[in-house]
Amino acid sequence: MSVHVIDEANRCLQCPNPRCRENGCPIHTNIPEMIRLFKENRMMEAAQMLFENNPLSMVCSLVCNHENQCEGNCVRGIKGESIHISSIENYISDSCFERLELKPAPSNGMKAAVIGAGPAGITIAIILALKGYSITVFETHDKIGGILRYGIPEFRLPKSILDRYYKKMRELGIKFRPNFAIGGSTGIQDLLNDGYKSVFIGTGAWKPRKLGVPGETFGNVFYAINYLNNPDVYELGDKVAIIGAGNAAMDVARTAIRHGAKEVVVYVRGDEVSASKAEFEYAKVDGVKFEYRKSIVRIVDEGAVFIDDGPDGDKTERLYPADSILIAISQVPQDRIVTHEKELKLNENGNLATDSKGETSLAGVFASGDVVTGAKTVVAAVAVSKQIAEDMDRYMKANL
Ligand code: SF4
Repeated sequence: MSVHVIDEANRCLQCPNPRCRENGCPIHTNIPEMIRLFKENRMMEAAQMLFENNPLSMVCSLVCNHENQCEGNCVRGIKGESIHISSIENYISDSCFERLELKPAPSNGMKAAVIGAGPAGITIAIILALKGYSITVFETHDKIGGILRYGIPEFRLPKSILDRYYKKMRELGIKFRPNFAIGGSTGIQDLLNDGYKSVFIGTGAWKPRKLGVPGETFGNVFYAINYLNNPDVYELGDKVAIIGAGNAAMDVARTAIRHGAKEVVVYVRGDEVSASKAEFEYAKVDGVKFEYRKSIVRIVDEGAVFIDDGPDGDKTERLYPADSILIAISQVPQDRIVTHEKELKLNENGNLATDSKGETSLAGVFASGDVVTGAKTVVAAVAVSKQIAEDMDRYMKANL
Protein backbone atom coordinates (compact mmCIF):
# COMPACT_ATOMS: atom_id res chain seq x y z
CA MET A 1 0.00 0.00 0.00
CA SER A 2 1.57 3.26 -1.12
CA VAL A 3 0.23 5.30 1.78
CA HIS A 4 0.47 3.92 5.27
CA VAL A 5 -3.18 3.88 6.17
CA ILE A 6 -2.72 3.47 9.93
CA ASP A 7 -0.25 6.36 10.15
CA GLU A 8 -2.65 8.51 8.17
CA ALA A 9 -5.57 7.60 10.47
CA ASN A 10 -3.44 8.49 13.50
CA ARG A 11 -2.81 11.97 12.11
CA CYS A 12 -6.56 12.81 12.01
CA LEU A 13 -7.50 15.46 14.60
CA GLN A 14 -11.13 14.27 14.91
CA CYS A 15 -12.34 17.82 14.32
CA PRO A 16 -15.72 18.57 15.96
CA ASN A 17 -16.75 20.53 12.84
CA PRO A 18 -14.97 18.49 10.21
CA ARG A 19 -14.28 20.52 7.09
CA CYS A 20 -13.49 17.30 5.21
CA ARG A 21 -17.08 16.21 5.62
CA GLU A 22 -19.01 19.45 5.79
CA ASN A 23 -17.22 21.50 3.15
CA GLY A 24 -15.51 18.82 1.16
CA CYS A 25 -17.63 15.76 0.60
CA PRO A 26 -20.59 16.00 -1.83
CA ILE A 27 -22.22 13.01 -0.09
CA HIS A 28 -21.22 14.07 3.44
CA THR A 29 -19.34 10.91 4.36
CA ASN A 30 -18.76 10.91 8.11
CA ILE A 31 -14.98 10.88 7.76
CA PRO A 32 -13.94 11.42 11.41
CA GLU A 33 -16.33 8.65 12.48
CA MET A 34 -14.89 6.34 9.81
CA ILE A 35 -11.39 7.04 11.09
CA ARG A 36 -12.38 6.69 14.75
CA LEU A 37 -14.00 3.27 14.20
CA PHE A 38 -11.00 2.16 12.14
CA LYS A 39 -8.59 3.12 14.91
CA GLU A 40 -10.75 1.27 17.47
CA ASN A 41 -10.44 -1.92 15.39
CA ARG A 42 -14.13 -1.66 14.44
CA MET A 43 -13.53 -1.69 10.71
CA MET A 44 -16.69 -3.64 9.81
CA GLU A 45 -18.81 -0.97 11.53
CA ALA A 46 -16.94 1.69 9.57
CA ALA A 47 -17.53 -0.20 6.30
CA GLN A 48 -21.21 -0.65 7.08
CA MET A 49 -21.59 3.05 7.83
CA LEU A 50 -19.75 3.98 4.60
CA PHE A 51 -21.91 1.68 2.45
CA GLU A 52 -25.16 2.87 3.99
CA ASN A 53 -24.23 6.47 3.29
CA ASN A 54 -22.76 5.78 -0.15
CA PRO A 55 -23.19 2.36 -1.75
CA LEU A 56 -20.39 3.30 -4.16
CA SER A 57 -17.93 4.18 -1.39
CA MET A 58 -15.31 1.76 -2.75
CA VAL A 59 -15.56 3.30 -6.22
CA CYS A 60 -15.57 6.90 -4.96
CA SER A 61 -12.49 6.23 -2.84
CA LEU A 62 -10.67 5.62 -6.13
CA VAL A 63 -12.21 7.96 -8.68
CA CYS A 64 -13.34 11.07 -6.77
CA ASN A 65 -11.42 14.30 -7.18
CA HIS A 66 -10.23 14.14 -3.55
CA GLU A 67 -7.89 17.11 -3.80
CA ASN A 68 -10.90 19.36 -4.44
CA GLN A 69 -13.18 17.55 -2.01
CA CYS A 70 -12.44 15.85 1.33
CA GLU A 71 -8.66 16.03 1.22
CA GLY A 72 -8.60 19.53 -0.21
CA ASN A 73 -10.65 20.71 2.76
CA CYS A 74 -8.86 18.78 5.53
CA VAL A 75 -7.67 21.16 8.24
CA ARG A 76 -4.32 19.37 8.32
CA GLY A 77 -3.72 20.63 4.80
CA ILE A 78 -3.65 24.30 5.87
CA LYS A 79 -0.15 24.11 7.28
CA GLY A 80 1.00 20.74 6.01
CA GLU A 81 -0.25 17.58 4.39
CA SER A 82 -3.97 16.71 4.35
CA ILE A 83 -4.95 13.35 5.74
CA HIS A 84 -4.97 10.80 2.89
CA ILE A 85 -8.68 10.14 3.46
CA SER A 86 -9.24 8.31 0.16
CA SER A 87 -6.67 5.63 1.03
CA ILE A 88 -8.30 5.02 4.42
CA GLU A 89 -11.77 4.82 2.86
CA ASN A 90 -10.52 2.52 0.13
CA TYR A 91 -8.79 0.21 2.58
CA ILE A 92 -11.95 -0.13 4.67
CA SER A 93 -14.46 -0.43 1.80
CA ASP A 94 -12.35 -2.86 -0.15
CA SER A 95 -11.37 -5.13 2.75
CA CYS A 96 -14.91 -5.44 4.09
CA PHE A 97 -17.07 -5.40 0.95
CA GLU A 98 -17.75 -9.14 0.76
CA ARG A 99 -18.52 -9.25 4.48
CA LEU A 100 -21.04 -6.40 4.50
CA GLU A 101 -24.29 -7.49 6.07
CA LEU A 102 -27.06 -6.26 3.84
CA LYS A 103 -30.44 -7.06 5.26
CA PRO A 104 -33.20 -6.24 2.75
CA ALA A 105 -36.62 -5.48 4.23
CA PRO A 106 -39.23 -8.21 3.59
CA SER A 107 -40.64 -8.10 0.06
CA ASN A 108 -43.35 -5.45 -0.34
CA GLY A 109 -44.60 -7.11 -3.54
CA MET A 110 -43.83 -4.11 -5.73
CA LYS A 111 -41.63 -4.06 -8.82
CA ALA A 112 -39.42 -1.17 -9.95
CA ALA A 113 -37.39 -0.98 -13.15
CA VAL A 114 -33.97 0.61 -13.45
CA ILE A 115 -32.75 1.52 -16.93
CA GLY A 116 -28.97 1.75 -17.02
CA ALA A 117 -26.46 0.09 -14.70
CA GLY A 118 -24.10 3.03 -14.23
CA PRO A 119 -23.44 4.83 -10.92
CA ALA A 120 -26.99 6.26 -10.68
CA GLY A 121 -28.71 2.98 -11.60
CA ILE A 122 -26.58 0.88 -9.25
CA THR A 123 -27.32 3.27 -6.37
CA ILE A 124 -31.09 3.27 -6.96
CA ALA A 125 -31.22 -0.50 -7.46
CA ILE A 126 -29.36 -1.22 -4.21
CA ILE A 127 -31.34 1.25 -2.10
CA LEU A 128 -34.74 0.10 -3.40
CA ALA A 129 -33.81 -3.59 -3.12
CA LEU A 130 -32.88 -2.97 0.52
CA LYS A 131 -36.33 -1.42 1.02
CA GLY A 132 -38.01 -4.63 -0.16
CA TYR A 133 -38.73 -3.83 -3.82
CA SER A 134 -38.21 -6.37 -6.60
CA ILE A 135 -35.76 -4.69 -8.97
CA THR A 136 -34.97 -5.42 -12.60
CA VAL A 137 -32.07 -3.57 -14.20
CA PHE A 138 -32.01 -3.12 -17.99
CA GLU A 139 -28.56 -2.51 -19.45
CA THR A 140 -27.44 -2.05 -23.05
CA HIS A 141 -23.94 -3.37 -22.37
CA ASP A 142 -23.16 -6.95 -21.40
CA LYS A 143 -21.92 -6.02 -17.91
CA ILE A 144 -22.77 -3.51 -15.22
CA GLY A 145 -20.88 -0.31 -14.45
CA GLY A 146 -21.81 2.04 -17.29
CA ILE A 147 -19.26 4.83 -17.46
CA LEU A 148 -17.33 3.20 -14.58
CA ARG A 149 -16.59 0.13 -16.71
CA TYR A 150 -16.68 1.53 -20.23
CA GLY A 151 -15.32 5.02 -19.67
CA ILE A 152 -12.72 4.81 -16.87
CA PRO A 153 -9.55 2.88 -17.62
CA GLU A 154 -8.55 -0.21 -15.66
CA PHE A 155 -5.52 1.51 -14.11
CA ARG A 156 -7.84 4.01 -12.39
CA LEU A 157 -10.71 1.67 -11.53
CA PRO A 158 -10.21 -2.10 -11.79
CA LYS A 159 -13.18 -3.75 -13.49
CA SER A 160 -13.03 -6.56 -10.91
CA ILE A 161 -14.58 -4.07 -8.45
CA LEU A 162 -17.65 -3.81 -10.67
CA ASP A 163 -17.85 -7.60 -10.90
CA ARG A 164 -17.91 -7.65 -7.10
CA TYR A 165 -20.78 -5.16 -7.13
CA TYR A 166 -22.65 -7.35 -9.59
CA LYS A 167 -22.31 -10.31 -7.22
CA LYS A 168 -23.47 -8.23 -4.27
CA MET A 169 -26.48 -6.96 -6.22
CA ARG A 170 -27.43 -10.50 -7.25
CA GLU A 171 -27.25 -11.47 -3.57
CA LEU A 172 -29.82 -8.74 -2.95
CA GLY A 173 -32.10 -10.44 -5.48
CA ILE A 174 -31.68 -7.77 -8.17
CA LYS A 175 -32.38 -9.13 -11.66
CA PHE A 176 -30.47 -8.02 -14.77
CA ARG A 177 -31.35 -7.92 -18.43
CA PRO A 178 -28.01 -7.28 -20.16
CA ASN A 179 -27.57 -6.38 -23.85
CA PHE A 180 -31.04 -4.89 -23.87
CA ALA A 181 -31.96 -1.33 -24.75
CA ILE A 182 -35.21 0.18 -23.56
CA GLY A 183 -36.39 2.47 -26.32
CA GLY A 184 -36.05 -0.16 -29.03
CA SER A 185 -38.66 -2.90 -29.24
CA THR A 186 -39.66 -2.22 -25.63
CA GLY A 187 -40.51 1.19 -24.24
CA ILE A 188 -41.17 2.65 -20.81
CA GLN A 189 -44.91 2.32 -21.32
CA ASP A 190 -44.45 -1.45 -21.74
CA LEU A 191 -42.76 -1.54 -18.33
CA LEU A 192 -45.58 0.41 -16.70
CA ASN A 193 -48.19 -1.78 -18.44
CA ASP A 194 -46.43 -4.84 -17.05
CA GLY A 195 -46.93 -3.60 -13.52
CA TYR A 196 -43.65 -1.90 -12.63
CA LYS A 197 -44.78 0.70 -10.11
CA SER A 198 -42.00 3.06 -11.02
CA VAL A 199 -39.20 3.37 -13.56
CA PHE A 200 -35.81 4.97 -13.09
CA ILE A 201 -33.80 6.26 -16.05
CA GLY A 202 -30.08 6.44 -15.46
CA THR A 203 -28.77 5.95 -18.95
CA GLY A 204 -25.86 8.38 -18.64
CA ALA A 205 -24.26 10.56 -21.27
CA TRP A 206 -22.72 8.56 -24.09
CA LYS A 207 -22.99 10.75 -27.15
CA PRO A 208 -19.67 12.49 -27.79
CA ARG A 209 -19.77 16.24 -27.98
CA LYS A 210 -18.52 17.31 -31.41
CA LEU A 211 -15.80 19.86 -32.02
CA GLY A 212 -17.68 21.23 -35.00
CA VAL A 213 -14.64 21.62 -37.26
CA PRO A 214 -14.05 20.31 -40.79
CA GLY A 215 -12.51 16.84 -40.97
CA GLU A 216 -14.15 15.44 -37.83
CA THR A 217 -15.56 12.48 -39.78
CA PHE A 218 -12.18 11.35 -41.16
CA GLY A 219 -10.79 7.87 -40.47
CA ASN A 220 -8.01 9.18 -38.24
CA VAL A 221 -10.41 10.81 -35.74
CA PHE A 222 -11.91 9.10 -32.69
CA TYR A 223 -13.97 10.22 -29.71
CA ALA A 224 -12.69 9.55 -26.18
CA ILE A 225 -15.84 7.81 -24.99
CA ASN A 226 -15.73 5.36 -27.92
CA TYR A 227 -12.00 4.75 -27.57
CA LEU A 228 -12.17 4.08 -23.82
CA ASN A 229 -15.01 1.61 -24.39
CA ASN A 230 -12.55 -0.79 -26.00
CA PRO A 231 -9.06 0.60 -26.67
CA ASP A 232 -7.76 -2.75 -27.95
CA VAL A 233 -9.58 -2.44 -31.27
CA TYR A 234 -7.99 0.91 -32.21
CA GLU A 235 -4.74 1.28 -34.15
CA LEU A 236 -3.72 4.80 -33.30
CA GLY A 237 -0.19 4.81 -34.71
CA ASP A 238 2.89 6.37 -33.11
CA LYS A 239 1.81 10.00 -32.84
CA VAL A 240 -1.46 10.77 -31.12
CA ALA A 241 -3.03 14.21 -30.66
CA ILE A 242 -5.63 14.69 -27.93
CA ILE A 243 -8.05 17.59 -28.03
CA GLY A 244 -9.56 18.49 -24.66
CA ALA A 245 -7.90 18.84 -21.28
CA GLY A 246 -10.22 17.33 -18.66
CA ASN A 247 -9.93 14.04 -16.80
CA ALA A 248 -11.27 12.09 -19.80
CA ALA A 249 -8.47 13.57 -21.93
CA MET A 250 -5.92 12.39 -19.34
CA ASP A 251 -7.53 8.92 -19.31
CA VAL A 252 -7.34 8.72 -23.08
CA ALA A 253 -3.75 9.99 -23.21
CA ARG A 254 -2.53 7.55 -20.56
CA THR A 255 -4.42 4.66 -22.16
CA ALA A 256 -2.92 5.45 -25.60
CA ILE A 257 0.58 5.39 -24.08
CA ARG A 258 -0.13 2.03 -22.45
CA HIS A 259 -1.27 0.72 -25.84
CA GLY A 260 2.02 1.60 -27.49
CA ALA A 261 1.70 5.18 -28.78
CA LYS A 262 5.18 6.75 -28.83
CA GLU A 263 4.21 10.41 -28.70
CA VAL A 264 1.00 11.61 -27.12
CA VAL A 265 0.32 15.34 -27.05
CA VAL A 266 -2.63 17.02 -25.34
CA TYR A 267 -3.57 20.28 -27.05
CA VAL A 268 -5.04 22.73 -24.55
CA ARG A 269 -7.13 25.70 -25.61
CA GLY A 270 -5.99 28.05 -22.86
CA ASP A 271 -3.14 28.17 -20.37
CA GLU A 272 -4.34 25.46 -17.99
CA VAL A 273 -5.77 21.96 -18.07
CA SER A 274 -9.18 21.40 -16.47
CA ALA A 275 -8.24 17.89 -15.27
CA SER A 276 -7.58 17.36 -11.58
CA LYS A 277 -4.03 18.03 -10.43
CA ALA A 278 -3.47 14.37 -9.65
CA GLU A 279 -4.59 13.20 -13.10
CA PHE A 280 -2.51 15.91 -14.77
CA GLU A 281 0.59 14.94 -12.78
CA TYR A 282 0.12 11.25 -13.54
CA ALA A 283 -0.25 12.02 -17.24
CA LYS A 284 3.06 13.92 -17.19
CA VAL A 285 4.76 11.09 -15.31
CA ASP A 286 3.44 8.66 -17.94
CA GLY A 287 5.11 10.76 -20.64
CA VAL A 288 2.19 12.76 -22.04
CA LYS A 289 3.21 16.13 -23.52
CA PHE A 290 1.15 19.32 -23.36
CA GLU A 291 0.81 22.18 -25.84
CA TYR A 292 -1.03 25.29 -24.65
CA ARG A 293 -3.03 28.06 -26.33
CA LYS A 294 -3.95 25.94 -29.30
CA SER A 295 -7.38 26.37 -30.90
CA ILE A 296 -8.38 23.66 -33.35
CA VAL A 297 -9.28 24.90 -36.84
CA ARG A 298 -9.65 21.70 -38.86
CA ILE A 299 -8.49 18.11 -39.09
CA VAL A 300 -6.66 16.74 -42.13
CA ASP A 301 -5.25 13.30 -42.97
CA GLU A 302 -1.80 14.40 -41.79
CA GLY A 303 -2.87 15.71 -38.39
CA ALA A 304 -4.64 18.68 -36.84
CA VAL A 305 -4.42 22.35 -37.75
CA PHE A 306 -4.44 24.76 -34.81
CA ILE A 307 -4.22 28.49 -34.39
CA ASP A 308 -1.24 29.23 -32.17
CA ASP A 309 -2.64 31.81 -29.83
CA GLY A 310 0.72 33.40 -29.05
CA PRO A 311 1.24 35.86 -26.14
CA ASP A 312 2.25 38.61 -28.59
CA GLY A 313 -1.19 38.47 -30.20
CA ASP A 314 0.22 36.53 -33.14
CA LYS A 315 -2.40 34.06 -34.40
CA THR A 316 -0.65 31.71 -36.79
CA GLU A 317 -2.28 28.64 -38.32
CA ARG A 318 -0.08 25.57 -38.17
CA LEU A 319 -0.34 21.86 -38.92
CA TYR A 320 0.64 19.58 -36.04
CA PRO A 321 1.28 16.17 -37.57
CA ALA A 322 -0.39 13.17 -35.92
CA ASP A 323 -1.42 9.66 -36.94
CA SER A 324 -4.63 9.88 -34.91
CA ILE A 325 -6.70 12.59 -33.31
CA LEU A 326 -8.70 11.81 -30.17
CA ILE A 327 -11.45 14.22 -29.17
CA ALA A 328 -12.21 14.39 -25.44
CA ILE A 329 -14.52 17.34 -24.88
CA SER A 330 -17.29 15.66 -22.89
CA GLN A 331 -20.50 13.85 -23.73
CA VAL A 332 -24.22 14.49 -23.90
CA PRO A 333 -27.04 11.97 -23.35
CA GLN A 334 -28.11 9.66 -26.18
CA ASP A 335 -31.66 10.37 -27.15
CA ARG A 336 -32.96 6.84 -27.82
CA ILE A 337 -35.40 6.74 -24.90
CA VAL A 338 -36.45 10.33 -25.39
CA THR A 339 -37.15 9.73 -29.08
CA HIS A 340 -39.20 6.66 -28.23
CA GLU A 341 -41.20 8.29 -25.43
CA LYS A 342 -42.62 11.50 -26.84
CA GLU A 343 -44.04 12.49 -23.43
CA LEU A 344 -40.57 12.81 -21.90
CA LYS A 345 -39.64 16.48 -21.86
CA LEU A 346 -36.13 17.89 -22.15
CA ASN A 347 -34.61 20.76 -20.18
CA GLU A 348 -32.99 23.87 -21.65
CA ASN A 349 -29.67 22.01 -22.02
CA GLY A 350 -31.27 19.25 -24.07
CA ASN A 351 -31.04 16.75 -21.19
CA LEU A 352 -33.95 14.90 -19.60
CA ALA A 353 -36.06 17.35 -17.59
CA THR A 354 -37.01 16.42 -14.02
CA ASP A 355 -38.70 18.24 -11.14
CA SER A 356 -37.16 18.75 -7.69
CA LYS A 357 -38.05 15.13 -6.80
CA GLY A 358 -36.35 13.73 -9.86
CA GLU A 359 -39.64 12.89 -11.55
CA THR A 360 -39.81 13.32 -15.33
CA SER A 361 -42.82 14.58 -17.27
CA LEU A 362 -44.15 10.97 -17.26
CA ALA A 363 -45.81 10.06 -13.94
CA GLY A 364 -43.85 7.47 -11.97
CA VAL A 365 -40.79 7.79 -14.21
CA PHE A 366 -37.75 9.24 -12.45
CA ALA A 367 -34.25 10.08 -13.65
CA SER A 368 -30.89 11.29 -12.38
CA GLY A 369 -27.21 11.19 -13.14
CA ASP A 370 -25.60 12.31 -16.39
CA VAL A 371 -28.80 11.83 -18.43
CA VAL A 372 -30.24 14.77 -16.45
CA THR A 373 -27.20 16.89 -15.71
CA GLY A 374 -24.87 16.08 -18.63
CA ALA A 375 -21.53 14.45 -17.78
CA LYS A 376 -20.75 15.09 -14.08
CA THR A 377 -18.90 13.25 -11.32
CA VAL A 378 -19.69 9.79 -9.97
CA VAL A 379 -20.25 11.08 -6.45
CA ALA A 380 -22.67 13.75 -7.71
CA ALA A 381 -24.72 11.05 -9.46
CA VAL A 382 -24.77 8.90 -6.30
CA ALA A 383 -25.71 11.82 -4.03
CA VAL A 384 -28.72 12.83 -6.17
CA SER A 385 -29.76 9.22 -6.79
CA LYS A 386 -29.88 8.54 -3.05
CA GLN A 387 -32.46 11.29 -2.71
CA ILE A 388 -34.42 10.09 -5.73
CA ALA A 389 -34.58 6.53 -4.38
CA GLU A 390 -36.41 8.01 -1.36
CA ASP A 391 -38.77 9.95 -3.65
CA MET A 392 -39.48 6.82 -5.71
CA ASP A 393 -40.19 4.91 -2.49
CA ARG A 394 -42.68 7.59 -1.38
CA TYR A 395 -44.29 7.67 -4.83
CA MET A 396 -44.75 3.90 -5.01
CA LYS A 397 -46.17 3.65 -1.50
CA ALA A 398 -48.58 6.50 -2.24
CA ASN A 399 -49.77 4.86 -5.49
CA LEU A 400 -50.38 1.32 -4.33
FE1 SF4 B 1 -9.55 14.51 10.31
FE2 SF4 B 1 -8.85 16.34 8.43
FE3 SF4 B 1 -11.39 15.64 8.70
FE4 SF4 B 1 -10.23 17.08 10.65
S1 SF4 B 1 -10.63 17.75 8.52
S2 SF4 B 1 -11.60 15.29 10.90
S3 SF4 B 1 -8.14 16.24 10.53
S4 SF4 B 1 -9.70 14.27 8.09
